[in-house]
Amino acid sequence: MFLITFAIIIINTYDKFRSEQLNSIENILQNTYLHKTLESISNSLNPRFEKINFVIGPGENFNNLLNKINLDKEEKKKILDFILSNKIKFNLYENQKISFDIDNLSNRKIVKIVIPINKKRDLVIYTNEKNSFSSIELKKELVLANVYRENFIKSSLYKAAIEKKIDPNIIVQFAQIYGFQVDFQRDIRKNDSFQIVYEEYKNDENKTVDFGNILYANLILQGKSLELFYFNSEKNKINDHFESNGQSIKKTLMKTPINGARLSSSYGMRKHPILGYNKMHQGTDFAAPTGTPIMASGTGVVLKAGWCGGGGNCVKIRHNSTYSTVYAHMSKFARGIKKGVRVTQGQVIGYVGSTGMSTGPHLHYEVIKNGKKINSQTLKLPSGKKLTGKNREDFEIAKIKINVLKSELINSQN
Ligand SMILES: [Zn+2]
Repeated sequence: MFLITFAIIIINTYDKFRSEQLNSIENILQNTYLHKTLESISNSLNPRFEKINFVIGPGENFNNLLNKINLDKEEKKKILDFILSNKIKFNLYENQKISFDIDNLSNRKIVKIVIPINKKRDLVIYTNEKNSFSSIELKKELVLANVYRENFIKSSLYKAAIEKKIDPNIIVQFAQIYGFQVDFQRDIRKNDSFQIVYEEYKNDENKTVDFGNILYANLILQGKSLELFYFNSEKNKINDHFESNGQSIKKTLMKTPINGARLSSSYGMRKHPILGYNKMHQGTDFAAPTGTPIMASGTGVVLKAGWCGGGGNCVKIRHNSTYSTVYAHMSKFARGIKKGVRVTQGQVIGYVGSTGMSTGPHLHYEVIKNGKKINSQTLKLPSGKKLTGKNREDFEIAKIKINVLKSELINSQN
């Protein structure tokens, strides 16, 4: 009984409170001052700021656009003076989209003009705080999208990728990240396949204008998966692809420091092509056209870039206390390659030639381990870094996210 009474009192009090509140709102609405305010708001519903989008027609120029906007003479002169006196150059072409932001407060004034310069950049002319014009070039606002593609490799990776409309930029990146492990000319068999997840940037017209990272790559060669995950830690300066166990795919040295070459003579005893007698061949020869770029097979310091007698123009690089490499018969050295210079793995150090004791254009490549020349092709090369500790933990999280993203992308295709 007490509870019921108590509840009724509360409901009554609440109702009373509500009706008082409604009354006061009604009073406010009848207030003449407010009426006037509402009126002035609705009068200015002709909006103060206006955006006008133009698509440039054939033969149209900037002056035509200004006339279409209905600026008064002064404002029109002001913007043209600004463009001419600051020698601001831009091209107008058919179907280009230009936007004007106009302030209608008293007379029409230009707040901002956006003129696309290219796929990635806009020229923006705007009214600054001093009420005059300024201009700036800005990167367009791009939207990041993730893409999943897969295909069987029938003849070449390149063809299989193009078939799935993968941009050549991404194909090159893909081949590069596997470059330490896979020889795309020799290792690919029929019905090998690949999967890839990569980032692309789209502009406001939904056109792809740039590419980001390959987040996931899988190359399935004769039924064996070579999965790679992208991992990036700005703090620890890591920005690379790793195998599922956190091992970098990069090796300390490349087996083949040249692209598109044919192994023409391997390490071992052979009849010397010029000297004519049996001699130990202490390197590996790769036949390739003159001028083909030769890469540093590992990061290191140039010990020599000069004439080596029978080796012709040659470069020698010291990688660490154990390994150094030699590249001989070059036609020329790459710019800046000289003694004492630091080079990074994959950096071009020179070009294939036939200088010194040589019968035709080729690269003679030597790997020296603890002062002894060894066979680069059978050498078990030491691996690059493996993620440990906090980096490894973060990598595991990155891997899960990438796997989730991949399944989402696959599902959305079905
Ligand atoms: Zn040789």
